[in-house]
Amino acid sequence: MATIVEYSAEKSARNGYPRKIISPPFPGPCCLTYMKRIGEMLAEGDGQRFCYKRCTRCGFTVREFVFNIELDRLLALQVSDWDRPRNWIDRVRREAQDDPADIAA
Ligand SMILES: [Zn+2]
Repeated sequence: MATIVEYSAEKSARNGYPRKIISPPFPGPCCLTYMKRIGEMLAEGDGQRFCYKRCTRCGFTVREFVFNIELDRLLALQVSDWDRPRNWIDRVRREAQDDPADIAA
C-alpha cells in the first residue's frame, strides 16, 4: 500500500485525507506540540498497523507505526539537513521513554 503523503518543499501543505496529503519535507519546532492523529488506524498488507499524524500548524505528516516513525522515507530523501529530523525523532523517543517514569513518580 503506497503512502498518501507527498513530501514537497514547493507545494503548500494540504490535508486531502484520505486521498492525498501534501507535507513539508521536514518537521519544525511546532510539530512536537501540534502533531495530531488523523483518520483511523490502518493496516499494511502484512498486517502492520499505522496511522497518519499531521502537524496542524505546518502540515508536516508522518505515518506512525507505534514508535516506528517513517525513518526509511526520511532517509531516502538523502538530504544534508538530516540532523534536524533525527534530533526531533530522538527527542520524541526520549519523551516517550520518560513517560512511565513520570507516572511512577
Ligand atoms: Zn509543524
